[in-house]
Amino acid sequence: MALVYVHCPECQRIDVVPYGKQANGTQRYRCNNRDCPRTLFLLQYSDQGRLAAVKQQIVAMTLNGSGVRDIVRVLKVSSATVIDNTFAKTS
Ligand SMILES: [Zn+2]
Repeated sequence: MALVYVHCPECQRIDVVPYGKQANGTQRYRCNNRDCPRTLFLLQYSDQGRLAAVKQQIVAMTLNGSGVRDIVRVLKVSSATVIDNTFAKTS
């Protein structure tokens, strides 16, 4: 049996434990590092809008003058995700 270490996407440590499942059955993990801002994470996100890289791209496209519907078309995320990210970052 192969042993695969799961790393926390925030602090990169392997001090991670399985922590329940998503409604769709995907395994959820918890980071045990107390100083880490991230508590729960998944190995593979089916919801692309939850990824930091996608969020940054939404903000970058907005700053470059792309409208909500342009971003929805290019990044294939929902309009609610685009609106949440563009308004949350400015406050
Ligand atoms: Zn962590």
